[in-house]
Amino acid sequence: MFDMAEHLTELRCHSTEWLRSRRAELVREQRALHVEQLAITRVLDERSAIDTITETMERRDGVAPRAVRAELETARALEVLPAIAAAAHAGDLSFDQLKPLVEIATPATDAEWAKRAPGYAPVDLEITARRQRPVTTEDAEKRREAREFRIWARRDTGMYAVRGELPDIDGALVKSVFDRMIERQRPPKGGAWDTRAHRGADALVDLCTNYADVEPVRHAKPHVVVQVPLVGPAEVDGVAIAEPTLAAVMADAVISTAVIDANTICGTRTDGDDIPEAVKRFVRQRDQHCRVGTCDETEHLEYHHLTPRCDGGTHDPNNLVLAGRRCGHHAMLIPNGPWNLDGDPSQPDGLSLMHRDELARAGPAP
Ligand SMILES: [Zn+2]
Repeated sequence: MFDMAEHLTELRCHSTEWLRSRRAELVREQRALHVEQLAITRVLDERSAIDTITETMERRDGVAPRAVRAELETARALEVLPAIAAAAHAGDLSFDQLKPLVEIATPATDAEWAKRAPGYAPVDLEITARRQRPVTTEDAEKRREAREFRIWARRDTGMYAVRGELPDIDGALVKSVFDRMIERQRPPKGGAWDTRAHRGADALVDLCTNYADVEPVRHAKPHVVVQVPLVGPAEVDGVAIAEPTLAAVMADAVISTAVIDANTICGTRTDGDDIPEAVKRFVRQRDQHCRVGTCDETEHLEYHHLTPRCDGGTHDPNNLVLAGRRCGHHAMLIPNGPWNLDGDPSQPDGLSLMHRDELARAGPAP
C-alpha cells in the first residue's frame, strides 16, 4: 500500500528544483495518459460499449454523469482534430483547456488552435466556446421559465435570506440598477467606504422603501448594453442571448455606434483623467476576468493601464485591461509592483508578463 508519510519523507530530501521538474514531468505524463484514455473511450463508444447512465450507476470510476458525457464528447471530437490531440498528448494543453477547445476547433482550424490554445486561459476558451453556441428561442424560454426570487425569514439568526435567478436581459437591468445605487452610496466626506456587500443590501432596502411611499424620481434611465458582434449571438454582460430576445429589446433600444472590429473599439476619446464609461464597459465585456497570466478571477476587478498614465499611457481600450484586486495581480503590475504587462489585449493570448529586472536587461524598447 502507498505510504504517504514515507513518500513525503523521501521527497523532502530532494531540492526544490528537482521537485519542480518532477512535478512538470508528472503533469506531462498525466496529460499523455489522458489522451490515450480518450482514444480508448472513443473506440468503446463506437462499439456502443459506453453508457453514461450505467457507467455512473455502478459507480465504477467515481465520476459524475456530466464528466462521463464530457469525456465522450471530447473523445469524439478529437478524432477529427489530430493536431490538437497531438498537442494535448505532448502535454501542452490542460484538461481544462482541452474541453472547451474541442468545441471551438474544426478540422480546418485544428493546426492553428493546436499552436495558439496553450497560451489561452481556460476561461477564455470557455468564453470563445460559449460565443459559438447559438442561443435558441427554446433556450430563451427555458431561461424565462427558470426565473425565481425568494425571500424567507430565518428565525434562528433573526435575518431574512434572499436568493434568485433572473434571465439575461432582466438580470442585466437589475444588476445595472444595483451597480448604480451601490456606486452612489458615497461615504460622508473623509469617511471610509462601506463594503460593497453592505451597500448592495442597503440598495435593496432603499428600492423597496421607495416603492412603498415615494413618487418615482426621474433619473437617467439605467443602461443595459447589448453588444451585437459581426459574427455570433448578441451578448449582454458576456451572456449570449436569443434572436427573439434581441428583437424584443431592439424595440426601445438606443443604438450606439461603437464600431467593434476584431475585438477592439474604434473612435473613442481619451481626454481627461476618468476612463470614459463606454471604454470601461467595452473593456469589462472584452476581458471579463483578470488578465494576468491564466488568472480567472472575475470579482473585484480594476482597470490597469498597460502603459501607465504617468508615462503618457491613454485610456484607449488597447491600453487597458482588467486586473484583479483580490487575487493580488493589479498590485503586482507597474507602477504599483515590479511586473510589466504588455501586448495586445484584444487577443486572449495577446499579453505577456515580464519582470522589471528582466526588462532592464533586455534594454530600452526600440
Ligand atoms: Zn488575477
